Amino acid sequence: MRVDVLTLFPEMFDGVFHSSILGKAQEKGIVSLKAINFRDYAGNKHGTVDDTPYGGGGGMVLKPEPIFRAVEDLLGDDEASSSVPGGHKPRIILMCPQGETFTQHKAEELAREEHLIFICGHYEGYDERIREHLVTDELSIGDYVLTGGEIPAMVVIDSITRLLPGVLGNEMSAVTDSFSTGLLEYPHYTRPVEFRGWKVPDILLSGHHANVATWRRKEAFRRTLLRRPDLLDVVELSPRDLKLLHEVKAELVD
Ligand code: SAM
Repeated sequence: MRVDVLTLFPEMFDGVFHSSILGKAQEKGIVSLKAINFRDYAGNKHGTVDDTPYGGGGGMVLKPEPIFRAVEDLLGDDEASSSVPGGHKPRIILMCPQGETFTQHKAEELAREEHLIFICGHYEGYDERIREHLVTDELSIGDYVLTGGEIPAMVVIDSITRLLPGVLGNEMSAVTDSFSTGLLEYPHYTRPVEFRGWKVPDILLSGHHANVATWRRKEAFRRTLLRRPDLLDVVELSPRDLKLLHEVKAELVD
């Protein structure tokens, strides 16, 4: 996968793109992560990328020309490297608090793409023509406003990259993650068996894989029911799941 980020602050991405799992994913050649300063596409000697809003009011608005030019330059790269002209369409993602709220499901969808282009805003916002005529997606990381789109883009890129095959050492760890299964994940324990008088549940020490799996599924239901019952409205449940959920509900009433 190729990921390009258009930003006025590319240095913010240095640590995130080159450390830990994202850094290793790049070393393995699974993903290429690049931050590009769209001020380089300003087209004027002052590098101006923003201007005052028509109609007055506070704040500066990002101009359309630099961002359109930067994206078109990246799209040109794609055309040049694709054997099927026009057959390779990147997703162009605007980071924006007014966008679709980012979820694990969206991360899974975007992880199937070959090329993603992120646009990070700053200041008051973007010229509306960027939103209307350039982007394919608008993503928000939640109902709050940050100073810029860089941290939101990092959040989204991190969650997508860890889903790419070969990125996580243990492939299963993404499969059982919270939200991937539609539920919150079950609790984890490690050594020691007893810590300050608090013991690891006996079932996890039993070595009985089927019983451990059942316990985990049931605990995932318990946790989801207590913390995020809304998730249970949309998850698909087998008859066995329904039985486990029923048991958990009965235990919680007792
Ligand atoms: N005036 C804008 C509004 O009310 O919708 C907010 C602009 S915000 C100060 C500047 C930039 O930060 C946005 O253009 C966007 O790129 C980014 N940003 C802020 N909050 C965000 C969020 N929750 N999700 C995604 N991007 C966000």
